[in-house]
Parts: sequence; structure tokens; C-alpha cells
Amino acid sequence: GETIGILGGGQLGRMLAMAAAQLGYRCHIFAPEQDAIAAEVSAAYTCAPWDDVEAMARFAADCAVITYEFENVPVTPLLALGEVALHPHPRALETAQDRLNEKQFIVGLGGTPAPFAPVDTPADLENAIGTIGTPGILKTRREGYDGKGQWRIMSAADVDALDLPPQPLIYEGFVNFQAEFSVILCRAMGGDVRFYDSARNVHEGGILARSTVPAGDPIAAQVSTARELAAAVAEALDYVGVLTLEFFATEAGPVFNEMAPRVHNSGHWTIEGAITSQFENHVRAICGLPLGDPGLAAATVEMRNLIGEKADEWAKILADPANHLHLYGKGAASPGRKMGHVTRLTLA
Ligand code: ATP
Ligand code: MG
Ligand code: MG
Repeated sequence: GETIGILGGGQLGRMLAMAAAQLGYRCHIFAPEQDAIAAEVSAAYTCAPWDDVEAMARFAADCAVITYEFENVPVTPLLALGEVALHPHPRALETAQDRLNEKQFIVGLGGTPAPFAPVDTPADLENAIGTIGTPGILKTRREGYDGKGQWRIMSAADVDALDLPPQPLIYEGFVNFQAEFSVILCRAMGGDVRFYDSARNVHEGGILARSTVPAGDPIAAQVSTARELAAAVAEALDYVGVLTLEFFATEAGPVFNEMAPRVHNSGHWTIEGAITSQFENHVRAICGLPLGDPGLAAATVEMRNLIGEKADEWAKILADPANHLHLYGKGAASPGRKMGHVTRLTLA
């Protein structure tokens, strides 16, 4: 079959490669880390730094189409991809890589993020706290994930104890949310857009712990407004593939948190819980195929992340035949490390 190139070597790339194999494609992983877990299930692997343009060009020469599973892939080396199609378009990366750009882009489309201000100096932070108030969260503009690079600020006095990292930051007002949810859509090359049911997402320590569908109240009433924004984002970026937007459900309606131009942890439930998984639909979209049905395949679906859990837990999980266990092949567990996930369906 034809070869799909995947930039990034983590579990999202691994699950994409598994879905691609089902459709008869081979995958070639490009990742800077040794022993990328996505490469274990792929036909080819280029292990090289992002800025190795020769390796990037050789990788591109092997691929019919290229996608990414990691939103922090630097954009400049992608110029070495030459003529090979890259989906989603790198402008989605540029938008999502910087929390300030991302929020400005969302405001431009009529969406509502938490109040925010860029912070480059201690004086900026003082002004931001003066305008936005406390509590709030100071975040690095780039490269944060799983709640890393974030500092909660409960009162202006907290700032004295902070050692500001020497990189661009953003201060956000703390959103007093009722619940969190995500909108996951897939957009085909011709512009056809399909939405997955929104999951209720519960985070623990800044890391996604569980996603459940149906999301229930108060999320259900806020999904259509959130979908409108997600569709506008996809349209504005001429997006091809799976796109995720995270939201806070609040008394005033959905508040945008952040977007990910890729398949998403809060969509892992779709592997067993939807007619067509987010991974398969992403592959279909970037290969120019018609999309599959994103509809629910069960009455309820619950996905739980296995965070920092050790191998002695697996047998217990498998002892319940209703559990679908997914392990990412990461080796040693450590605190905060996503080792796998478990999905459970109820049929009626
Ligand atoms: P991800 O792994 O989802 O990319 P991230 O490191 O980019 O995570 P965020 O999504 O910005 O982090 O924040 C992680 C979690 O922290 C959110 O899902 C939410 O629970 C909480 N959080 C972040 N920003 C705010 C906010 N402004 N108000 C309230 N809670 C927040
Ligand atoms: Mg994020
Ligand atoms: Mg997030």
C-alpha cells in the first residue's frame, strides 16, 4: 500500500498507524526520540532531530501524504517536505503552538476564551493581575502539555515567590467551570465535516483522567455553540483531518480553553465506542477517502487513562471481560506518565 508519514512518535501516532494498517496503508514515523512507540507498529522509522532537513527530505520522498500527531513540531523544517501533501495544513500548527495566537484567533472567530494577557516581564504580570484579577493561571505560551508549564496564582502575593521562566507567558483568568468537554470533528478534503459526541472530561492534576459519553448536563446544552466555533476554526484553516477544541462549560455558556490540531486523548473512547474511530477518520480524511460514521456504537462509553500505573494493574483490569485494555508499550511507569487507557461500553 501507499505510505503515510507521521511526524511524532507517541501513542497518538501509534494508534494512527494501527488504524492506517487496517486500511492497507504502511506508515513511516519521523520522531526525534529513540525507540518511538509509534515506530513499533510501523513499517519505517526515521529517528532524527526536527531540524535535520536532509533526513526530513528523505522521509518525505518515501511518503504519499504526511500528517502529525504532535502539535509542537517546529514549522520551519517542514519546508523540506517539498511537494508531498501535509495535512492538516501547517497553519493549524502555527495557530495552535502559541496560546496567545490561538486565543486571538478564537476571539477573531467570535469565540470566548478566559480573559487573557501576554506576559513578558514582571511588570506585565502585575498589570495582567490588576486587570484580570485573581485567581488566575500563568502559562508558558509554547510547548506546555498535561498541565506542565503552568502556575496557579491565588493572590497577587503569590507572584513574589515565582521565578518567572525566561520565555513568553500568558496570564489567564481562572474559569469557574461546571464541567469540561471537548469537541472533536473530522473534516474531509471536500469540506465534509462530522462531529463526534462530546465527552465530559475530568482532569486530575492538569492531566486528563476520564472521558465519558454522553456528557450530560450542563454540557449537552452547550455543545451546539461549541460546535459552531469548532466548525469555524476548521473552515478558516481549510482543515483536513481530526481537530479538537477543549471547552469549559460555564453558566454563561462554553468558554474556549485550547485547541489541538490532531487526534486527542479525549477521543480514545471512539476506538470501541464509535462506529468509526477518530484515528480511522483522520486517516480517511488525509488520504482523500470518504469519512466514516462518527456516531455512537453504545449507550454509554467511559475511557479512563492509566497514568503512572504499573504492570501489576493490568491483570486486574483484564479480569473484567468488559474492559478494553490499551497499552502503549512504554516500558517503565513513572508519575504522570500515560501508560495506556481502558474503555468500557454499556449497550443499553
Ligand atoms: P493538554 O494536555 O490538554 O494539552 P495543557 O498542558 O495544554 O494540557 P490546559 O488544557 O491549558 O493544559 O490546562 C489543563 C487543565 O487545567 C484544564 O483542562 C483545566 O482543568 C485546568 N485549567 C487550565 N486553564 C484553566 C483556566 N483558565 N481556568 C480553570 N481551569 C483551567
Ligand atoms: Mg494543550
Ligand atoms: Mg488541555
